[in-house]
Amino acid sequence: MDRSEFRHHGHALVDWIADYLAGSERYPVLARVAPGELRDALPATAPERGESFDVIFRDFERLVVPALTHWNHPGFFGYFAITASASGVLAEFLSAALNQQAMLWRTSPAATELESVTLDWLRSLLGLPPTFEGVIYDTASISTLHALAAAREVAVPGVREAGLSGRGRLCIYCSEHAHSSVDKAAILLGLGHQAVRPVPGDDRFQLRVDALRSALDRDAADGVTPVAVVATIGTTATTSVDPVADIAAVCRDRGIWLHVDAAYAGVTAMLPGQRAHFAGWDLADSIVVNPHKWLFVPFDLSAFYCRRMDVVRRTFALAPDFLQTPEASRGVKNLMDTGIQLGRRFRALKLWMVLRHFGAERIRETLARHMSLARRFAEWVDADPDFERVAPVPFSVVCFRARPSRGVAPAELDAFNERLLDAVNASGDAFLSHTRLNDRFVLRLAIGHLRTSDEHVSRAWELLREHAASLAGRAHQPSPL
Ligand SMILES: *Cc1c(COP(=O)(O)O)cnc(C)c1O
Repeated sequence: MDRSEFRHHGHALVDWIADYLAGSERYPVLARVAPGELRDALPATAPERGESFDVIFRDFERLVVPALTHWNHPGFFGYFAITASASGVLAEFLSAALNQQAMLWRTSPAATELESVTLDWLRSLLGLPPTFEGVIYDTASISTLHALAAAREVAVPGVREAGLSGRGRLCIYCSEHAHSSVDKAAILLGLGHQAVRPVPGDDRFQLRVDALRSALDRDAADGVTPVAVVATIGTTATTSVDPVADIAAVCRDRGIWLHVDAAYAGVTAMLPGQRAHFAGWDLADSIVVNPHKWLFVPFDLSAFYCRRMDVVRRTFALAPDFLQTPEASRGVKNLMDTGIQLGRRFRALKLWMVLRHFGAERIRETLARHMSLARRFAEWVDADPDFERVAPVPFSVVCFRARPSRGVAPAELDAFNERLLDAVNASGDAFLSHTRLNDRFVLRLAIGHLRTSDEHVSRAWELLREHAASLAGRAHQPSPL
C-alpha cells in the first residue's frame, strides 16, 4: 500500500470509526448471529492473490460487523462495561504504526520509560505510595499469575531452579467469590487446582477473616506451606469488598504474600469518597488494577503494582547472550525481566494519552456519575415489589432478580429470570449478564461505558419491567419514571 492509498483508506477508516464511536447505538448490543454463521460465510483458505482494501472493508462491514457484540455501545451492561475512548483508539492506531517491541530498554526507550511514568501517575492518583513499582501486562489474569509466581518464589526458596517436586503441599487462600484467574494461576504454577482454598464469605459476600485464620491454622498443623492470600476489592459477581486491612494484618503476622485483585474497582480509589473500600491495600505485596475496565482505555491494559518487584525480576529474569546490552550496567529497566513475555507492545501510549486527554478530574466525575446511576437503578429495584436486589452496591454493579408477586411459582424463578434476561438481550437496546448467588440465578447490571446516560439505564429498567410483566402473563403497568 503506497502512501496515497494509505491516506485514502486511512481517512475513510477514521470517518467510519468516528461515526461508530458516536453512533454505536444503531447496532444491537448483542450480536444476532448463530454459531458458525460468520465462519460459514468466509472462505476456508487465505487468498493466493492480494485483494483491494475496499473489497476487504466491504466484507468487514457486511460479514464481520453483524457478528460483533458491541462492547462500545452505551447499552452494554454485561460483565463489566468498558469503553474504548476516542483518545485511546487514536493511541492504539499510532501504537500499531510504531510497532515497538519493548523487550529491552534499547529496543524501545520510549515504551520502557513511558510505561514507568504513566504507571507512576496512575499510582499516585490511586493514592498508593511510591514503594509500589508498576508494570503493564495484558490482563488481570496475567498480572495475578505473575504475583503468585513471585509469591511462590518467596514461599518455596529455590523453586526456580529445583522446581516443586518434594516440596510438600502448598496453598493459596482467597474468598469463595475470588476470580477464576487465581485458580488458573495455581494450575499453571504447578500447585494444582486443589491448592486453592476457597474461604467462605459472609452475607455481604466479603471474605470472613475468622474463616481465613482457621483455614491457615488447620493447614499449618497439617504442614501445608501458605503461598499467598488473594483479597479482592470488587469481586466479579457482586463487586463485594474483602476486609483488606484485617487480611493484611493476618498476612503480616504470618509472613504471607498478600495480593489484592482490584481489577475492576481499583480505579475508584481516585475518589476521596471511596477510600474506605481501599483501607489497607497499601499493605499488600502486589495489586492489580485494570485501566481497560473502567478507565476508558481500549482493551487490553492491566496495571500491576508490586512492592517487591525485585522478587518478580528474580523469578523471571533470564538474559541469553544476545539480549545482554551495555545499558544494563547503567540501571535501565528491561521490561522482559518483569515477566513471561519477551516482546512487549507499546500499551503505555494509550494510558498516557487517555490520562492526559481526560485529566483526573473528568475521570473522577465519570466514575462518580456511573456509581450514582447504579445507585438510582438499585433504588428502582428496591421500590418495585416485582423485583428484589440481592447484594449491596458499593460501585457500579447491581445484582437483582425479578420476583413477580403473581403468576410465577418460587421454584420457577430461576427459569423465569433466565427467560427475562434473554428477552431483554434480544431487544438490541441493552445487554445484561447473569451470575449465581446462594444457588439462585441472578441478573447483573454493570455500568461503565463513557456514554451510558440516564436514558440508557432507564431504558434497561423499562425493558426489564415490560418483559417481566409480559412473561408473567399480565398487563404491563406503565413505569412511573
Ligand atoms: C475482570 C476481572 C478479572 C480478570 O480480568 P482480565 O483482565 O480479563 O484477566 C480478575 N479479577 C477481577 C476481580 C475482575 O473483575
